[in-house]
Amino acid sequence: MGRLARVWRRSIQTRVVTSTILLSTLVVALTGWALLRDVASGLADSRRAAAVSEARSGFDYAQTQLDATVETEQSTQSQALTQMVDSLTRSRGAQRTYELVLEGPLLTDDGEVPVRSSAAIGAGSLPTDLADAVRTGPGTFWRYSDLALLGSTTSDPSVVVGSQLRAPGSGDTYALFYLFSLEDQQETLDLVRRALLLGGLAMILMVGGVAWLVSRQVLDPVRMARRIAERYASGNLEQRMHVSGEDDIARLSTSFNQMAASLQRQIRRLENLSRLQQRFVSDVSHELRTPLTTVQMASEVLYDSREGFDPQTARSAELLKGELDRFESLLSDLLDLSRFDAGAAQLELDTIDMSQVARAAAGDAGLARAGIGVRLVGVEAPAVVEADMRRIDRIVRNLLTNAAKYSGSDVVEIEVAQNDESVSLAVRDFGVGLSGDENVRVFDRFWRADPARTQGGTGLGLAISREDAALHGGTLLAWGRAGEGSEFILTIPKPEGSARNPALDPVYA
Ligand code: ADP
Repeated sequence: MGRLARVWRRSIQTRVVTSTILLSTLVVALTGWALLRDVASGLADSRRAAAVSEARSGFDYAQTQLDATVETEQSTQSQALTQMVDSLTRSRGAQRTYELVLEGPLLTDDGEVPVRSSAAIGAGSLPTDLADAVRTGPGTFWRYSDLALLGSTTSDPSVVVGSQLRAPGSGDTYALFYLFSLEDQQETLDLVRRALLLGGLAMILMVGGVAWLVSRQVLDPVRMARRIAERYASGNLEQRMHVSGEDDIARLSTSFNQMAASLQRQIRRLENLSRLQQRFVSDVSHELRTPLTTVQMASEVLYDSREGFDPQTARSAELLKGELDRFESLLSDLLDLSRFDAGAAQLELDTIDMSQVARAAAGDAGLARAGIGVRLVGVEAPAVVEADMRRIDRIVRNLLTNAAKYSGSDVVEIEVAQNDESVSLAVRDFGVGLSGDENVRVFDRFWRADPARTQGGTGLGLAISREDAALHGGTLLAWGRAGEGSEFILTIPKPEGSARNPALDPVYA
């Protein structure tokens, strides 16, 4: 049932074919019903008209016969009537198409009405209202009925025509009935019904087949378009639809191709632009480096001889050195990022024990100087990964420096954990924390929670750390709560644990 519903939902072709079959069945059934009704009433009407006219000539003949028996005696009259019924019955040659019933004389003293009949049909089987009408008045009357006629054992549709006869001498009245079978018409009708049924069925199947063919003709190009659009979406920008003819599908293909070409142009343009920007940043950083080194050397000389300066000049020499150091680290960060952007960053893989990395980081003299205690969790067992020591070290150092610089917490916790697929190293502080969407924005380039803060920093540290993690196929995620601290979790996949969930890969805006 679920599979059927799925097919119904997903396949336009199934829906088109099914609804076409249902609708055409309805139309065929209605048309067939109306046609059959018309044919049936037409057949019955024409047979009835023929029957009435045949019966009329019979009534005229019988009336003539009756007129001829005027003066005869009762018994002779009765004999004559029987003969008349016989002769009327025989009158249409060998193939008799009707039965006769003669009642009368209708008014006898003992109330018994004699009946002469060509078959075993009594006056009682006749339609009562017809019989009453004939008995009481002159004229010719007819009714449809169901009777077993002409030796048949079952009741068949038939038409009964009756008229009154009057013997002029005695004044006796008689009722004469012609009973015509409509069996032939019934057979014709059955034939027509069978033909309609078979024809209708064939037509429904044909219409269903045509709907299938036509919907396929329309849907095949649509499916092709879907496949090509999917390939295009997955990055194959050269994909184009095949255009043949000038119909709607061809026009759709042309429009699709135009759209694809325009998108490809835009993407190429943006790629070029971004390449240009990357080149620009990288070139500028390179170009600034050489003069910066010279200026830095000069400032070192000034800084080293500051003792001999007056206090104002000495302070300027200190400021100069500090800002030049910051400038240098900004340039090297920018160069790093431009290498990531150009896809030129390379890993130098080593076997690294992350527990060892955590222990080394905890012993960093800088943290002790800043009066920050480090708690180590889960570093007893080795947690080995294949990674670039320089980059891993840079990430961990950056996280610890940040915790010291920004959190205001005096304790930092480093926790190492692992499973079959990866090793994670988390740096947790208990300081100001991160609020709102800051846990995402901290990774943005040049983003700082408070740009006016005097903590220095370029706003590039975490952006670079995240690129470093991604280069290993790993992730760097953050979470935090205002006033409760924050945690940065670095996850690096183990070499054999290649079953990573790609949904967990970081996405860079
Ligand atoms: P920066 O070079 O300024 O240190 P980062 O990319 O390392 O740049 O950090 C970006 C910003 O994220 C910082 O300016 C700071 O506002 C915020 N941040 C980083 N780490 C923490 C932390 N542990 N607690 C609170 N804020 C933090």
